[in-house]
Amino acid sequence: MKAKKIKTIAVLTSGGDSPGMNCAIRSVVRTAVGNGIKVYGIKRGYTGLINNNFQEMNASSVGNIIQRGGTILQSSRCPEFREKKNREKAAQILEDRGIDALIVIGGDGSFKGASALKQEFNVPVIGIPGTIDNDISGTDYTIGFDTAVQTAIEAIDKIRDTAASNERTFLIEVMGAKSSSIAVKVGICSGAEHVLLNKDQVDYKKVSDTVRKGIRRGKNSSILVVAEGEKPGRSYEISQELAEKYDINSKVCILGHIQRGGSPAANDRFYGTTMGQLAVESLINGETEGAIVVRAQKILCAPLLDCNKKSDHAMREFVGIAETLSI
Ligand code: ADP
Repeated sequence: MKAKKIKTIAVLTSGGDSPGMNCAIRSVVRTAVGNGIKVYGIKRGYTGLINNNFQEMNASSVGNIIQRGGTILQSSRCPEFREKKNREKAAQILEDRGIDALIVIGGDGSFKGASALKQEFNVPVIGIPGTIDNDISGTDYTIGFDTAVQTAIEAIDKIRDTAASNERTFLIEVMGAKSSSIAVKVGICSGAEHVLLNKDQVDYKKVSDTVRKGIRRGKNSSILVVAEGEKPGRSYEISQELAEKYDINSKVCILGHIQRGGSPAANDRFYGTTMGQLAVESLINGETEGAIVVRAQKILCAPLLDCNKKSDHAMREFVGIAETLSI
């Protein structure tokens, strides 16, 4: 059967925002416009979808945004979208507006919502992975990861200056509730002495041995990178335990939402742009559901259902490198 010709699409950003989402929006809009497709931006993710908050976009509406963090369409968490009746309302609004397909830029939660819309109401959907955590199944990369890592590295470089001057141990907590991807990459790139993964029971003996060994060989600072895990702020407990049981004094620095902001780094501009383009091209080529992913350095359209779970695979093979090199 010949694929239905796509005439009108809509795009939204959903869940946690990430640097590079604007690059993806720009690319979606301009690829669509360049192919004679009408494109609507939906404000505030699924909230705007069920409240009919659409605006038509053109090439100029996405001018001068490639370098801006956040998302010009804004984002939201929308608990109502978990209810089928509201997804039905969304599908009806899309149909009433003559929209042939929806592009969702967001994390695994946003992809779950998109999968439901496709499965229950046959709305054609393409997902573009946008989250700083790099924690989506089926893709090696999510837009925003590189910028978040870069922000954390720059912060740690600054902390090193003060840590070294005062011979201190620092626990630096980075984001990633269910994934240690940020922590692993930041640990390697900042020359950390140790990385505490999100699910780890902390091996205090190992941590204290690492710090002491460093001091013995003349190191004047130690940086321990902590993945926040399910308990943001866990570094305070770890610091207390290190002090009370192992006589190691440490300072805590929680980087928090600073990792979400800032001008997107090169990789996020690159993947935002190329993924946005492939999302529209996939629809033109007749795809009716999919997620744009990176696998083995190739960008491709994969089944959406493979990509709507959290996964800690992206940096797994690099776990342990920071420790190996901090002798
Ligand atoms: P992210 O997309 O960054 O993972 P969330 O997990 O908060 O962020 O999901 C974003 C939004 O996607 C939610 O607020 C909700 O509207 C929608 N969503 C998440 N999970 C589901 C689900 N199981 N069914 C339908 N919609 C969902």
